[in-house]
Order: sequence, then C-alpha cells, then structure tokens
Amino acid sequence: MSAPLSDDDAETVPDGRRSGEQPILSVRNLQTVFRTDRETIRAVDGIDLDLYEGETVGLVGESGSGKSVTARSIMGLVEEPGEVLPESSIRFKGEEITGYDTAQYQELRGSGIGMIFQDPLSSLNPVFTVGNQIREALKVNRGITGEEARETAIDLLESVQIPDAARRLGEYPHEFSGGMRQRAVIAMMLACDPEVLICDEPTTALDVTIQAQILELLSDLQDERGLSILFITHDMGVIADITDRVNVMYAGEIVEKAPTEELFASPRHPYTEGLLEAIPGQHADEDRLRTIEGEVPTPNEAATHCRFAPRCPKAFEECEAVHPELVEVDESAADHTAACLLYPEQMTTGEAVAHHERLGEAREDGDGSTAPGEADEDVAADGGDSR
Ligand code: SF4
Repeated sequence: MSAPLSDDDAETVPDGRRSGEQPILSVRNLQTVFRTDRETIRAVDGIDLDLYEGETVGLVGESGSGKSVTARSIMGLVEEPGEVLPESSIRFKGEEITGYDTAQYQELRGSGIGMIFQDPLSSLNPVFTVGNQIREALKVNRGITGEEARETAIDLLESVQIPDAARRLGEYPHEFSGGMRQRAVIAMMLACDPEVLICDEPTTALDVTIQAQILELLSDLQDERGLSILFITHDMGVIADITDRVNVMYAGEIVEKAPTEELFASPRHPYTEGLLEAIPGQHADEDRLRTIEGEVPTPNEAATHCRFAPRCPKAFEECEAVHPELVEVDESAADHTAACLLYPEQMTTGEAVAHHERLGEAREDGDGSTAPGEADEDVAADGGDSR
C-alpha cells in the first residue's frame, strides 16, 4: 500500500518519543500478505511500532486483526503462502533483519528475541523430558553442558517458581499442568538469554489465578533481566496490568497508539472505545456484556477507506472514501495518535478529512510524511479551527 521507506525514515519516526535513544526493536511499514488463487490477504498492512529497552509494549485487538502475524513476521516464522513484502523494515538493535537467511533467524531466535506462544505444548517436545529440552537450549545457545547445564537448568526452573525443580527436570511435558508448562517454556526461553521477548497470548488458555501469576512472573523477570517485552493479547485487562504503551490493531493496521494510562483515561479511536466498553465489569448495572457488533473484515484489498467503518457508531460519509492516517489526536498529546478522520481534534471535520487525504497522497508519493511529528506541521499549516 505505501511506498518503501528509506533508511532515514526508519529512524525518524519513533514511538514513545525517547529522544536520543534507539529502540531495541523497530518495525516500519511491515506488510505481510498471504496469496491464494483467489485473493491476496493483507494480514499486516503497513504497520510501524517501536520497543525500547526495558519496557513492555502491548499489541491489542480482536482475533483476525493481524497481531500474531506481526509477531511471526518479526521472528521470521511466516510460512508459505505468506510473505513479508520487501518494502518492510524490521530492525533489531539497529540491524535490518528482514533479509536474514534461515541460519541467521535461528541465531536471532536463539539469543536475541525469544517468543512465548499461547499453547506451551507447541514449544515443548512431548518425547523429551523438560530437563532434557532446557539442557539442549543451554548447549546450543550458550555452550553449557554436563553438570553445569543440569545446575543451570535447576536454577532456571527455580527462577520461574517451579517447586522441587531438581525432580521435575526428569518429567515430561504431559506431567506438567498448563500453568507449569508455560513456566517451563519461559525457563527454556531464558536459557537462550534473549534481550527481547515476544509474548503471543501466553495466558489466554490459563485460568485467571494462574494468568495473574504468569504476568507477575514476567514482570519480575523483566525487572531482574532488563527484558524488553512485546505483549500480544485481545484482553484489555491484561494490557492495563502489564504494558507501558499500547498499539491497538484492527484489520491489519494500527489504529491507535498511546501510553497505557493515557489510552485508558482518554481513548480516541471508536474501535478502542468499543474494546474498553467491552471489558467485563464496566457496566455492572447491565444484564449483558457490551460487544462491538459485527466482525473484523478480512483485509483482502488495499485500504482506500476506514476498515472499521461498517462497525463504527461514529461513521460518516467520507469514512467510506478516505483512508485515515495515524495523526496526533490533539495538540497536547504528542505521543497519542489515532487513525480516524475525526482527528486532529483541533480541526473541523472537513479540515481533518482534507488533512488525511493530503497525508495519504504524500505517503503514496513516498515522502513518508504520515509520521506523527510531521503531521503537526500540517496541522499548523491548516490553521486548526476547533470543531
Ligand atoms: S474514520 Fe470514520 S469510521 Fe473510521 S473510526 Fe473514524 S469515525 Fe469511525
């Protein structure tokens, strides 16, 4: 959909506005498609996101929004008929990784970026003991073998609070409960000593008590090891508990970005408002949980309009004709952006629509001017009447 970004573009549009600091993981214009005989599904359609050292960034949205494909794209795990388009840029510690070959991705997954999936059994081999698998990870990634590997494996199981660690090393994955299996996977991941951890719905299959324990464990491990975490979930409650900043994703695009407290206190995109309204317990006086009517559409054509329009209670005519770009929601919230034609707030609706059209055209022309910081200049140029 958008033009390729240059090297400079990838460095000049930071999320979170940490001046002078490079993100440890930086994604620009990520486009991942799945081609079939009948159509091309744009599962991830030109997203940008940054993760800085020691922080937790959330990626939230309903099933089908493209969250997991984003994670798999970063990890080099997209399989045919999927493809990360060459216009995409993913940088780890400043190095472009999208062109990595299989061996380079294996090394990256071994010691740079670790990933935890929803189903721990997908990461554990049922025919080997848990201890065997942790020792193998230690041998391959850190060259630790023999008695030292056994002692380190025990330390790792203890660090994820598995009781009687020495005995449990000899057990098979099926002998662990769901929560213990996820802890074992985290221990195995820690054996690789990663700097970034991508958690893809790691607590969704667990009951609420175990979920809270795993979230607390991740938070403790982050403090101890300085891990940077990209946390993927559909659960706004989990986002509130664990993240510093949030990216809200819908139908392959990021539609709102903000620091977590700001997003919960003042959501701007109608989709985010709907997600927050749907958190259980928000409206205790009502018999039924609130939901967002309809389903996430399959993004199988270029985004020439707002993909949320069919479900949006605030939609108006232009929403079906103009693609909303990510813009700062108002003059006071530099790190809060939304892809909605109702913003920037200081413009009239007509001015805002024209503003989005210009930003879209500029992006198609390849000057990357949809950057939030640059959008400011456009707002000033437009005068910016209050609506
Ligand atoms: S652009 Fe229009 S349809 Fe899309 S979220 Fe904003 S108001 Fe709703």
